[in-house]
Amino acid sequence: MKTFYTKEFQETNNVDDLKNQGVMTTWSYHVTFLVNSACHVWGTQKWDTGDLSKNNWWVALLTFGEGWHNNHHAFEYSARHGLELWQIDLCWYIIRFLEALGLATNVKLPTEAHKLKKSFSSHNKFK
Ligand SMILES: [Zn+2]
Repeated sequence: MKTFYTKEFQETNNVDDLKNQGVMTTWSYHVTFLVNSACHVWGTQKWDTGDLSKNNWWVALLTFGEGWHNNHHAFEYSARHGLELWQIDLCWYIIRFLEALGLATNVKLPTEAHKLKKSFSSHNKFK
């Protein structure tokens, strides 16, 4: 069995690539867990989702937009998590770019009617 620490393994594999893959895998797991833990504790709720999901700006920066978690819980189908112009959402910008190239189609966004339905201030609820 080849192990990472043998000279033979290091000569036949690009160890820097493996280290980078390890760092990226570790990073992606941690930020995923961060979204699903921190964004249910800290932040603000804009939408009435009936749960503890929150929008958290610093998690959103670390996760390329996934930290707008209350938005995500309110509109699970939405390709855009940062629904306000000031809510930085790098994943959304990439999706828009791919859409402009014709590589992404049928991109879904919340409708104004659905936003009204999920709004805390709505007096005309019809859940
Ligand atoms: Zn959640």
